[in-house]
Amino acid sequence: MTFRFLLLSLLAFSLPASAALRAGAAALDITPLEWPVQVIGNFGLTLSSQAHDPLMARAVVFDDGKGPVAIVVIDSCFVKRPVLDAAKRMAQERTGIPADRMLMSATHMHSGPPAYPLQPTDKEGRYTAYLTRQIAEAVTLAHARLEPAEVGWAVREIPEELNNRRWFLKEGTMSMNPFGGKDDKVRMNPGAGSPDLVKPAGPIDPQFWIVSVRSTSGQPIALLGNYSLHYVGGVPGPELSADYFGEFARTMEQKLAPGNPKFVAMLSNGTSGDVNNTNFVTPRPRKAPYERIREVAGRLASEAETALKTVTYQRDVPLGAAQRELPLRYRKPTPEELDRARRFVDQADLHN
Ligand SMILES: [Zn+2]
Repeated sequence: MTFRFLLLSLLAFSLPASAALRAGAAALDITPLEWPVQVIGNFGLTLSSQAHDPLMARAVVFDDGKGPVAIVVIDSCFVKRPVLDAAKRMAQERTGIPADRMLMSATHMHSGPPAYPLQPTDKEGRYTAYLTRQIAEAVTLAHARLEPAEVGWAVREIPEELNNRRWFLKEGTMSMNPFGGKDDKVRMNPGAGSPDLVKPAGPIDPQFWIVSVRSTSGQPIALLGNYSLHYVGGVPGPELSADYFGEFARTMEQKLAPGNPKFVAMLSNGTSGDVNNTNFVTPRPRKAPYERIREVAGRLASEAETALKTVTYQRDVPLGAAQRELPLRYRKPTPEELDRARRFVDQADLHN
């Protein structure tokens, strides 16, 4: 059994020069308009009646004269593919940018609203329709703001905020997994500071990339960051938040272009599946809500500022886009595991 995974890569900036580059950026609010909403990213059902900070769809459009590309980063835990396909179609109709030259991703913070269509008349369906329009509008506005631009990029290594959450444990200390099995080779999210830890079962990717875009007169247009950290967390259950992705974007906007709504900073999620912000070897004391979010975002913001000083800007950069669907294999439950799960559901008191 496989499912289709969409892979799109953009930004072939290293090829020989051609036409002059133009770029534009825009950010649109995607905070829910109706409350309460279910919080996506928590275990169990949590309802939220407010957002601690605004959720945004942040877009940048590049055009080298031969064909534009668009990149959008969305403050959401995940957005289902039909929603993004619809947003791309809508943006294509308005701008002429081919849908297969648009790269859209959710940040995957764990404190977002549902972003999948249910019944078109219900609150969550209305939110998804709103989200789709706002994503398309962000691309449209960024496209309308295209101006002669130059671009540069840099990378920093920041391993300190990254921990692989899957660990080998000392022999005989593996506890039962959520499906009733005891034969796991590694444990996800073991106790921080546990004496049973042996070594992480996988790597981290410490690279923090930035792509900086500015007008040919030197005015900042956009800053794209990419870091491989699942999310930070520390958001109180009943609130929505864009986590450190939003905090980083707001901090960079404040640092580089205060009061300029045309400048957009964004932070996309890299290869972070099993990499989180929990220090398993040396546990940290518990922090106040949003404290770690501010710390990690602040660290990345100051690294971005340092990296920006090393950036060499270029005006003649050809763009490229390539898209491929990858069939992925995944593990399915055994009949015994399904039986066990059904027994739990039968025993649960679903009225509480
Ligand atoms: Zn997650």
